[in-house]
Amino acid sequence: MTPPTTHRIDPYAELRHALVEHLRQRGIRDERVLAAMEKLPRELFVHPAFIHRAYEDVALPLGYNQTISQPYTVAFMTSLLEVQPGDKVLEIGTGSGYQAALLALMGARVYTVERQWELYQRARQLFVRLGLPIQTRFGDGSLGWAEHAPYDGIIVTAGAPHVPKPLMEQLAHGGRLVIPVGGTQSQVLLRLRRLSESEYETEEFGEFRFVPLIGREGWHGRADQGSSSS
Ligand code: SAM
Repeated sequence: MTPPTTHRIDPYAELRHALVEHLRQRGIRDERVLAAMEKLPRELFVHPAFIHRAYEDVALPLGYNQTISQPYTVAFMTSLLEVQPGDKVLEIGTGSGYQAALLALMGARVYTVERQWELYQRARQLFVRLGLPIQTRFGDGSLGWAEHAPYDGIIVTAGAPHVPKPLMEQLAHGGRLVIPVGGTQSQVLLRLRRLSESEYETEEFGEFRFVPLIGREGWHGRADQGSSSS
């Protein structure tokens, strides 16, 4: 008699697949983004109280007045970044860590900065648990992370009052900066491409709603006390 084979059933696989199909129907065309989203367990990144809604196409509360971004927004912004395997990418606003993990799954070398201590700690632990080689930093990301610059891509996942100059300066030639800019209630999503030392091309991609980027080059114009990285 053949012994029964044991399969580990992933109870979220179908929901994850349905979400990816939904994103495709909403116009996400970048197959590398969709393939990475099909692999990444969003249920591990959402707050435990919202695990049953992990695969709805909505932003969900993370606590501390912050959110994990809507999957459509994550997919759209990631497509705009035009990430290639091996690219060095800086993310401002680690939050749950989902966006950073997605970029790592796509083969990027990821650096991410968070200003909220508990979220920073939680995301760091999750990256270790998932074996993702993501470099994390606690501090004011509106100033970027100069030590590792230049970056092929920079993605800001909080709404800024203007494009922070340090982020423009930390972009490699040919690099892309994706950032929502506007008021505290709504912003326009911008992609800046660095053409040369002093020239940037700017494109606009419609209106979005993000939590505010707080910091010296963000809202309130103040930096956080101290910083640390790993
Ligand atoms: N990318 C996140 C994810 O995948 O879950 C979602 C980010 S949430 C919409 C925005 C995050 O930006 C929050 O966690 C907030 O604390 C953080 N943030 C706001 N201002 C910041 C700053 N100056 N530096 C770093 N993080 C900042």
